[in-house]
Amino acid sequence: GKITLAIIKPDAVKNGYIGPILFHIINAGFFIRAIKMTEISQKLAKKFYYEHKKNLFFESLVKFMSSGPIVLIILEKENAVKNFRNLIGNKNPIKAKVGTIRKLYASSLEKNAIHGSDNDKNAFRECRFYFSDIEIF
Ligand code: ATP
Ligand code: MG
Repeated sequence: GKITLAIIKPDAVKNGYIGPILFHIINAGFFIRAIKMTEISQKLAKKFYYEHKKNLFFESLVKFMSSGPIVLIILEKENAVKNFRNLIGNKNPIKAKVGTIRKLYASSLEKNAIHGSDNDKNAFRECRFYFSDIEIF
């Protein structure tokens, strides 16, 4: 798999971290195939996080992800999913390794600055979920 979907989450956008996060990603050798800033509705956030609908944090996560602008990015690199997950670190910033994006920029376990697809099948699905053909280069 050569692509993965990244989302700069509302906390990181509000905190002014779009620039530093993009710099970090590009320095790690990822190529941007598509990028846009947008807001998503609670309805769309629910659909995107459907696999988590039975989790206790689901409602809160949906509200958070639709609470402000986000940046959606399709990234390309060899082994994109695995390499990107290493770059962002553990979902809990307390557990994330030094130098990872979440250690540097996340506010909490929920407001953890960035999303990365968790496998190739989901990466493809997630890229298609947010982008149409003419938006991908
Ligand atoms: P990983 O799949 O490596 O565990 P992830 O970022 O994909 O990390 P998920 O478990 O898939 O995390 O959860 C999706 C998102 O839901 C997280 O990134 C975080 O924003 C939020 N989240 C996850 N677990 C919790 C929790 N226990 N409490 C609050 N929010 C959570
Ligand atoms: Mg996940």
